[in-house]
Amino acid sequence: MARDPESQSRRLLRRLRETMAEDSAGQARLDRIVALIASSMGSEVCSIYLFRDAETLELCATEGLNPEAVHQTRMRVGEGLVGRVARRAQPVNTADAPATRGFRYMPETGEEVYSSFLGVPVQRLGETLGVLVVQSKTKREFTADEVYALEVVAMVIAEMAELGAFVGEGAALSVRHKQPAMFRGGIGQEGTAEGHVWLHEPRVMVTNPIAEDPDVELDRLRDAVETLRGSLDAMLDDAGALEKDHREVLEAYRMFAQSRSWLKRMEADVASGLSAEAAVEKEQSAARARMAAVPDPYLRERLHDLDDLSNRLLRTLTGQGKDTGAEMPKDAILVARNIGPGELLDYGRTGLRGIVLEQGSVGSHAAIVARAWAIPLIINAEGITTEALNGDHIMVDGDQGVAHLRPDDTVVTAFRDKIAMQAKAQERYAGLRDQPAEARCGSVVELHMNAGLIADLPSLGTSGAEGVGLFRTELQFLARSTVPKRGELAAIYARVLDAAGGKRVVFRTLDIGSDKVLPYMKPQDEPNPALGWRAIRVGLDKPGVMRMQLQALIRAAAGRRLTVMFPFVAQFDEYKAARTAVLDELNREERLGHILPEHVEIGAMLETPSLAFAPRQFYEMADFISIGGNDLKQFFFAADRENERVRRRYDTLNVSYLTFIEQIVERCRQTATPLSFCGEDAGRPVEAVCFAAMGLRTLSMRPASIGPVKSLIRRVNLDEARRVIDKARGSGAQSVRGAVMDWLRTLS
Ligand code: PEP
Ligand code: MG
Repeated sequence: MARDPESQSRRLLRRLRETMAEDSAGQARLDRIVALIASSMGSEVCSIYLFRDAETLELCATEGLNPEAVHQTRMRVGEGLVGRVARRAQPVNTADAPATRGFRYMPETGEEVYSSFLGVPVQRLGETLGVLVVQSKTKREFTADEVYALEVVAMVIAEMAELGAFVGEGAALSVRHKQPAMFRGGIGQEGTAEGHVWLHEPRVMVTNPIAEDPDVELDRLRDAVETLRGSLDAMLDDAGALEKDHREVLEAYRMFAQSRSWLKRMEADVASGLSAEAAVEKEQSAARARMAAVPDPYLRERLHDLDDLSNRLLRTLTGQGKDTGAEMPKDAILVARNIGPGELLDYGRTGLRGIVLEQGSVGSHAAIVARAWAIPLIINAEGITTEALNGDHIMVDGDQGVAHLRPDDTVVTAFRDKIAMQAKAQERYAGLRDQPAEARCGSVVELHMNAGLIADLPSLGTSGAEGVGLFRTELQFLARSTVPKRGELAAIYARVLDAAGGKRVVFRTLDIGSDKVLPYMKPQDEPNPALGWRAIRVGLDKPGVMRMQLQALIRAAAGRRLTVMFPFVAQFDEYKAARTAVLDELNREERLGHILPEHVEIGAMLETPSLAFAPRQFYEMADFISIGGNDLKQFFFAADRENERVRRRYDTLNVSYLTFIEQIVERCRQTATPLSFCGEDAGRPVEAVCFAAMGLRTLSMRPASIGPVKSLIRRVNLDEARRVIDKARGSGAQSVRGAVMDWLRTLS
């Protein structure tokens, strides 16, 4: 084709716009489009394949192939060259299709006579909607200009599909955003919720993908980029007093906004006939496709910046703000690509019933907040932000990690039955609130709750927790943009102690590093952050913040009991140094005339296997020890707690792990050191029973788990549980879970 690809593609786009404006049915439009493209590109064949379901592509229109094959020829993603384009979201360009690896012959289409093949993905914002193909008999590769021109056309087709231009009969031509859709992601926080979608960042709709007058569009694009640059400059000016790191983020943003190549690519898109908005979206789509393929987290972050800039530019161009005027539903389920803890806290606990994220991780800040709020959270629900519309009906099954968008009646009924059953169980648990977790053998297990926000504290009364076994103080640090002041912290800790009304609260000192990165702390470039400079290691190396926090705790406790615990202690010396820091601060506060706590306990978290083998003197000196099972398990099995693929391989009830827990219990028994377990596993009823059977008598968990755990403990005899475990251990089993479950099923 095309010696002059620019004007040719412009002409083609203009004719596409006319097709769009025609008042014809979706199928007729598609038929016209393929004919237009084939003649414009001088190729014998042009075909459009669209998805009929998540896995299957369907030939929806063709010029040149057998018309009988339309809506009959189907292929799975990855199957044949068309399937390969869809899977990789990248063009396939070959002079000899039948000889190309992966080619699959579809006899009903009559395509065997065509040699050259060019397929490009039809994609919108990183979502592939189908594949656009041109084929011809002559054996030749398509030129770079031709590939580019077809990509531009595919972009317009994607926009037209989004606007409902191809609605017709059959699944492949069904109306977009109306069908039920299921998203399978990861479990961030268990629980179920029903409500309506609230998009954290509402989608910008591009209604005019094709330029009427490219010169006007070019001016619009340049003006919008200027406005964007101006607003970033203004933000940087205002940011004068900001932390250095914050400035660096803004500066990186500005650098992108000033990138010549970014603007150049968009200008070329406009020159080839796209509107300014469509050009921005085309580059955004490309950035998203790259983002999905880039393994380096730093580069991914930068591509994310670019994505964010594109959104700002789109809002400027379309005049569609973040605030669409829509009102947030009362039963809002927040749907977002990702969200930081500060933004989440802005919505408030009462504002949201559930959260579904396209990214995120179990240990992310959002997950920690959602867990604290006890609302279901699903992570890694791929594609949901492009499919969901504000106000869509949605059901969130946090127990399975599944979100049902626009569910059909069968799903609604089944889901509501599940919610009703859970509500009944909750009533049963509420009835046990004031009862002890006393097993049939007479042993009593103390159940405490994990917390981290002031908003968690009412649960202390409603859950029946005997105290706060873990107060994660980093949440206060994560939820703001600067280091909190000592006075502020002291006031917060005092409120926590007031709310606890004399019940024990274990304050864990700042546990940052690894996945918990403070917005105002320079991220460390470490090869293995989970094994890196984190928690007490930071506290001891840079003692300023830790000492300030200890002072705040001492002042908050004034005259009351203070319980402090240090995270991630890996050797005795670290505990000694931390203990000395507390004693130093107590002396200092006394000298300054502050009232000291009435009693102080200084504990250590056992989160690394090394501490289990620490000298006896450590066990004698520590006032108490709490097993941080989330970290301990990851280090015991060398399996990243954030990496579902490896995390799931190792059962908590694995014989080696339980035996290890038993040894820690025994060491603490020898020195009469109080021991508890505060990782997530303590909140799983079967695991909790097994830990208790191994001798643990204090467990700390999220408040919602206290009822289910207590209910099961009260039904079992721990001596019997121990016999079952020992028998399974003796049998050479890898995990005792099977034996324990069989035994539990025999209970009345
Ligand atoms: C743990 O590691 O088990 C723990 C309680 O701490 P966190 O989950 O905050 O790392
Ligand atoms: Mg930990």
